[in-house]
Amino acid sequence: MNENEKIILTLLNKSGSLTKPEICNKGHMGWATAVKLINRLLESGVIENAGILKRASGQGKNPEIYRLSSKSPLAIGVDVEYKQTKIILTNLKGTILAGSTLDTPDNLDIKALKIFLSKSLSQFMTQYVSDKNILSGIGIGLPGIGKESWIKHNVNNSTEISLFLEEYLNTRVLVDINVRVYTVFEKWENRTFSHDDFMLITIRSGIGSGIFLNGNLYYGHQEHAGEIGHMTVNKNGIKCVCGREGCLQTEVNQNRLYKQYLQKVLLQKDVAHDDPPQEELLQNLPKLFSQAKNGDKAAAKIIQKTVGYLGKSIAHTLIILNIPHIIISGHFGTDGDVILKPLEEEIRKRILSRMDFSLSYLPLENKGFTVGAALLIFKDYFTDIPI
Ligand SMILES: [Zn+2]
Repeated sequence: MNENEKIILTLLNKSGSLTKPEICNKGHMGWATAVKLINRLLESGVIENAGILKRASGQGKNPEIYRLSSKSPLAIGVDVEYKQTKIILTNLKGTILAGSTLDTPDNLDIKALKIFLSKSLSQFMTQYVSDKNILSGIGIGLPGIGKESWIKHNVNNSTEISLFLEEYLNTRVLVDINVRVYTVFEKWENRTFSHDDFMLITIRSGIGSGIFLNGNLYYGHQEHAGEIGHMTVNKNGIKCVCGREGCLQTEVNQNRLYKQYLQKVLLQKDVAHDDPPQEELLQNLPKLFSQAKNGDKAAAKIIQKTVGYLGKSIAHTLIILNIPHIIISGHFGTDGDVILKPLEEEIRKRILSRMDFSLSYLPLENKGFTVGAALLIFKDYFTDIPI
């Protein structure tokens, strides 16, 4: 796509549908250029004719309306989490056309990960992608620091993964960290999300963050920026996948929160040591936050402990980066905002008194991880995907 074609697609994505005069006007394009590019986009199947705009009589010829095609191009988005891997097929409008959820095998090293992804994706493509020509590529979001073998050469390994899969699957493959693609999805999808400097912290099986500075994603040297989940918060804590103990994400994560809810709020005695079934967790974890909001003391105590660990890590980040907006995101339901007040108090205790910041909560939108991964591919079609 050339720059003007991207402008047309971006306008159509924002507006839904437009006529040629509207495209010329909004895209600051000459008539001849717009006509040429629209014809080219129609021929390649990226946009389609959506009918005729009916004008009142006497106002000239009724113009044709154009919109993004929902059939072509398509992209596959993959979200690899420690427990589950989700694969989706999506189009330029972000509609999910097919999806599949798999268990992520335990103790993956780089070789096992390559085998797992190549087999799963090959199967998915056979089942759902009937015409390989309309598949623009595959975007994959991975945990920032996974098993030990990913730690040392994360950058090389993501390149290694994409090159291996490109050859195996014969399509373009791009890889990034899953919380980063989620942050890009939120900034892109949520049009009111206008901050240039912010940090979005996601709490799932692990904790990660996407950092935007001056409107751009901050990667850091070796691309490890944002690994807040591996700050040590409890030196006698649980062993983390990174090999150390008491990382923020081993002390605070959705599995742990849910198990604490079962034990301390519902007073269940035989809570399994293993992680709970994810569907059950996603359905019931919001109750912990609702009950805390309704004044349940045991629920509030769990939140308070969570806030202690989380607040410490956020405060340290704020002191160094002075980021004005912090967004917390998790599968906590609409009452997840109950965490904000105690968290803000905890952070304020630990930062300079003159430092100001805003704290907000955004319920996690599951499709953001997979559609966000697909944006790695679709950034070639739009001008406004900030990655
Ligand atoms: Zn760790």
